[in-house]
Amino acid sequence: MDLVIIGNGVAGINAARHVRILDPSARITVVSDESDHFYSRTALMYIYMGHMTYDHTKPYEDRFWAENRIGLVRDFVEGVDTGAKVLNLRSGGRLSYDALLIAAGSRPRFAGWPGEDLGGVQGLYGLGDLDRMTADTVGVRHAVVVGGGLIGVEMAEMLHTRGIGVTFLVREATYMNRILPTEEGEMVGREIRRHGIDLRLGTELKEILGDAHGRARAVVTTAGEEIAAQFVGLTIGVTPNIGFLDGSGIETDRGVLVNEYFETSVPGVFAAGDCVQHRNPLPERKAVEQLWYTGRIHGATVAHTICGRRRAYAPGLFFNSAKFFDIEYQTYGRIEPTLRAGEGTFYWEHPDGVQAVRINYEEGAGGDGAAGSRVIGVNVMGLRHRQVVWERWIAEGASLSHVVAHLGAANFDPEFFDQHEADIVAAYNRQHPEEPVRLEQKKGWRRWMSADRRGLTGTDIPPGRALP
Ligand SMILES: Cc1cc2nc3c(=O)[nH]c(=O)nc-3n(C[C@H](O)[C@H](O)[C@H](O)COP(=O)(O)OP(=O)(O)OC[C@H]3O[C@@H](n4cnc5c(N)ncnc54)[C@H](O)[C@@H]3O)c2cc1C
Repeated sequence: MDLVIIGNGVAGINAARHVRILDPSARITVVSDESDHFYSRTALMYIYMGHMTYDHTKPYEDRFWAENRIGLVRDFVEGVDTGAKVLNLRSGGRLSYDALLIAAGSRPRFAGWPGEDLGGVQGLYGLGDLDRMTADTVGVRHAVVVGGGLIGVEMAEMLHTRGIGVTFLVREATYMNRILPTEEGEMVGREIRRHGIDLRLGTELKEILGDAHGRARAVVTTAGEEIAAQFVGLTIGVTPNIGFLDGSGIETDRGVLVNEYFETSVPGVFAAGDCVQHRNPLPERKAVEQLWYTGRIHGATVAHTICGRRRAYAPGLFFNSAKFFDIEYQTYGRIEPTLRAGEGTFYWEHPDGVQAVRINYEEGAGGDGAAGSRVIGVNVMGLRHRQVVWERWIAEGASLSHVVAHLGAANFDPEFFDQHEADIVAAYNRQHPEEPVRLEQKKGWRRWMSADRRGLTGTDIPPGRALP
């Protein structure tokens, strides 16, 4: 098989690695215009901030590719001739394939604002953006970042670490309010302001004004306020890279349309990662998923299909993690800003205002037989919890009371992260005096897992059940 992969991001490279294992005789070629080698896009901010060099962000040594017979081509694919099974490259070259994987990722989305083409105005997605930002922020006194997602807060932090004043325009009333419940959104907002960022919630950009040299000098908000800025970061989201597929016959909508096997409308052509739009998204999943970990799973899954072992997408429990300045955030399962009918929430926040745990549950019996509730999701702010523990609790529908009593088992690193389990149990007991729980925390997670395998730990678990 002659496999060509467009894109050397996490989806394309994970597919290449898995194909190499599944089909040792496959010829694999990866084409990308951005970089010679795969690097961790999520670490871009740390290069700018001086915590890492570009080389540190490469998960594999440069010799890995030759050793694994994965050919790398640095070029841009301008068009795909699916009839002849040939790619047309910007350099003028052509590449033929038996199987094609499109893993072309995304690019920053712009909204058509007046002035968005001025110098010193940009989004942040790849190495080119980083180079531009590095060059265009020299000597900048004040910057404006527009759009309150994960990349926006990263850009604000990047600029801040270089001593540049930042005004951060966020349309929503609390930070990331389409994802975070109010308390967590307010916590992130406080954290952003604590670092000296001028966070303007409920504020929208109207236009960007330029100077005589075609460079940004100020922004104007829809309320009419003018804010001086020599650099403007536009971070309102990303959009799949599909323009080069025009005329190829491969069906696209917002992204490349795929079925659950990552097959496109053209036989022998597959797609994975950020650029994909699922025709029939799985329950509770988005049609376009633009996350690192879903890209990894897409890549591994499509590799099986490419190698003739058709495998359907089964991403398991939703999870994600991020960092908002000093607050680490993890989420597992289903936590939405607004509760659905039949859902409840337990929220604990430390008085310091930078640590919190929210556990959402469905009313009904837990998987462990305890009455009242089964947990469906968690948000952890400013603490680190173990993914493996939460995945089991949610997958097995542990009861809220059980989880609260055993929260110590989820504490990632009790030596470095304060254990607040006693406070959390006390808060739970104040809210649920009818069903007080006792802290069962003196147990490392390994013991918890192995005890769990025996099907019995703690006092509130019926013997023989799968849960602790
Ligand atoms: C600053 C930043 C921070 C992020 N942080 C997080 C995070 O904390 N958690 C998280 O889950 N996700 C995060 N993401 C998102 C995550 O990085 C992406 O979801 C993921 O990298 C997408 O992987 P991919 O393999 O689909 O595509 P990409 O990584 O985008 O790779 C696609 C590659 O294909 C190349 N390409 C595109 N078209 C062509 C063409 N026609 N010819 C040749 N090459 C082409 C592109 O240049 C690119 O190099 C972040 C993204 C950014 C930008």
